[in-house]
Amino acid sequence: MKRFENKVALVTGGSRGIGAAITKRLAVEGASVVLTYSKSREKGEAIAAEINASGGRALAIEADSADPHAVGHAVHKVVAEFGRIDILVNNAGLFMVKAFEEHTLEDYDQMMGINVKAVYAASLAAANHFSEGGRVITIGSNMADHAAGSDTTLYTMSKSALAGFTRGLARDLGKKGVTVNLVQPGPINTDMNPSDSDVADFLRSRMALSEYGTVEDIAGLVTFLASEEGKFITGTAITIDGGFNA
Ligand code: NDP
Repeated sequence: MKRFENKVALVTGGSRGIGAAITKRLAVEGASVVLTYSKSREKGEAIAAEINASGGRALAIEADSADPHAVGHAVHKVVAEFGRIDILVNNAGLFMVKAFEEHTLEDYDQMMGINVKAVYAASLAAANHFSEGGRVITIGSNMADHAAGSDTTLYTMSKSALAGFTRGLARDLGKKGVTVNLVQPGPINTDMNPSDSDVADFLRSRMALSEYGTVEDIAGLVTFLASEEGKFITGTAITIDGGFNA
């Protein structure tokens, strides 16, 4: 029996990068998985089709994390289609590099909307559906603990907010036997942070391991937290960054 047999997972932003790797790994381990996307319909549907073709169960649905109602609706759709939700992975995120003096209040709304409000909205919609053993796992960033460079104030603030959310929600959902954790990656080779970009060598120079991580590194940690083995870990942030913040 696979370890997530009979479990249902929702991964926001599962069409590319880290979210796609988490979606595939949970499916390989037996979970029925729903992924959301905002723009990458073809990629999202291709991942769902690949999982279904190999004997799993998956669905890709459009839900822009900039719209908290769309995110809540995605959670309800998971429950309507699969009858339950056990694992919520809040992964979709926006990165922005911009001089602080050029920021606008619209930048704030966009960043906090996607990186924070959508996480709140998805968790809120899922809260009443979780049962014993439920999991909320949010993808933050190691930058929440260490702003390594300039022009990333909004991103750093948004990812730091997730730590407080995680601690509070762990207390709120703990009484139901649901765990809530934050995974804080460092440099991971994706479209958001390609390992051949202009800043990649600078990032490598700050790491103990001197090399980018892979999407599978993050998927492995998320899978562990989602599993029975992770049942005593809650309310915490786990940094997985090749020693960037060491
Ligand atoms: P990518 O840009 O490679 O992929 C982002 C994924 O999120 C895509 O599937 C994208 O789908 C989806 N997405 C983006 N915006 C929205 C939205 N508004 N609504 C719904 N889905 C959306 O990013 P990564 O995989 O690198 O990042 C995933 C998470 O990891 C983010 O939260 C990021 O902040 C975090 N992270 C990444 C690091 C890295 O080095 N890569 C380091 C630290 C944290 P679509 O194309 O359809 O929009």
